[in-house]
Amino acid sequence: MSTEPRSTLTNDSLFERARRVIPGGVNSPVRAFRAVGGTPRFIQRAEGAYMIDAEGRRYIDYIGSWGPMILGHGHPAVVEAVQKAVLEGFSFGAPTEREIELAEEILKLVPTMDQVRLVSSGTEACMSALRLARGATGRPKIIKFEGCYHGHADSLLVKAGSGLATFGHPTSAGVPPEVVQHTLVLEYNHIGQIEEAFARDGSQIACVVIEPIAGNMNFVRASVPFMKRVRELCDQHGALLVFDEVMTGFRVGLGSAQGIYAKALPGFAPDISVFGKVIGGGMPLAAFGARRAVMEQLAPLGPVYQAGTLSGNPVATACGLATLKEIQKPGFFEDLAARTRTLLDGLLGAARDNGVPMVGDCEGGMFGFFFTKAGEGLPQNYPTVMATDKERFNTFFHGLLDRGVYLAPALYEAGFVSAAHTARDIDDTVAAARIVLR
Ligand code: PMP
Repeated sequence: MSTEPRSTLTNDSLFERARRVIPGGVNSPVRAFRAVGGTPRFIQRAEGAYMIDAEGRRYIDYIGSWGPMILGHGHPAVVEAVQKAVLEGFSFGAPTEREIELAEEILKLVPTMDQVRLVSSGTEACMSALRLARGATGRPKIIKFEGCYHGHADSLLVKAGSGLATFGHPTSAGVPPEVVQHTLVLEYNHIGQIEEAFARDGSQIACVVIEPIAGNMNFVRASVPFMKRVRELCDQHGALLVFDEVMTGFRVGLGSAQGIYAKALPGFAPDISVFGKVIGGGMPLAAFGARRAVMEQLAPLGPVYQAGTLSGNPVATACGLATLKEIQKPGFFEDLAARTRTLLDGLLGAARDNGVPMVGDCEGGMFGFFFTKAGEGLPQNYPTVMATDKERFNTFFHGLLDRGVYLAPALYEAGFVSAAHTARDIDDTVAAARIVLR
């Protein structure tokens, strides 16, 4: 892609310098390119659909800061709102009208919630949502699914135990086994396992937390029959269903993933929903919400404690509000979904023409593809995702990166298209993919 030499800095020299003062040279592990090898690109700036690295090289960006940048980088209306907010003050530690406006906007778009609480990261929102679920039900246990990520709260860093429906093992050092003893890890899309878990522990289960369309094992949808059964089991046993829409929220559609399941299952609703990424437009902002009776369990009204110095930050809320306004414009999601579909079809077509087995899926502005074995369908759970061809993905990733296309640097991550991606960007991406696949 085009180059604009502006700097004597190199990604290699920055990485070396970064590694001296920051563990692994990065402030979030996946940025280190460990899964794909090579040197991470140090980004100097971004505009629209592009990121420009320290060496002045331009990339078509399909990460979008891991989801938030649905309008692309530096959208004028968002920049203006943020600039105005900054001049009014960075943080007050006192309530503002803008927090109400953002809460009202989110609630208008997600009718399954009566109230939301704003926080600063998806991790914080998920952690708080689980505390709320436990506090509201008075029960200790939670169910999560292997391959779903809900941030790095201790009790969520768990992988499945050896036997079916046993409690899990910590996936991180520093998490004592006792801390995860109440976290049950099940296989995604496996109805039999969750039935068994409820049959055994139903009266102890506070909630089931799920990424309805999982974006942390690439792109895997919860099947409609699975979701229907999960809802039924929660209802039968008095457990709450927590939708982690940090990634899917306002990304797969204006109604988020829950809107999609409600179309397939009339009346369907989660009990607690968690949002992040898009609602902050690239600033640190996340939220969790539910019906009033559940939310009123939170401090200062109720016994479930939750707080934050920067919660509802005035600059972040301005950024989020401006972003939510833009995505409600007529045709926004239709256009975004069509562009994403064109990209995915282009990639699948390029693979097919070169005899490379590839499958993929997309919804709204989120997509995923897998290098499978010939004849295999879309992976339905974590083990089948991890059985796809990692070597091939890594070669593809680097081939595209060298040609100015920046995909997420790991096969277990979803991709994101923004409103700033043009038809030309998509064409260029598919053309580059064709060369690499050949
Ligand atoms: N939930 C989901 C579904 C996510 O994708 C992420 C982050 N990728 C989180 C929670 C955690 O959010 P954060 O990184 O803002 O803490």
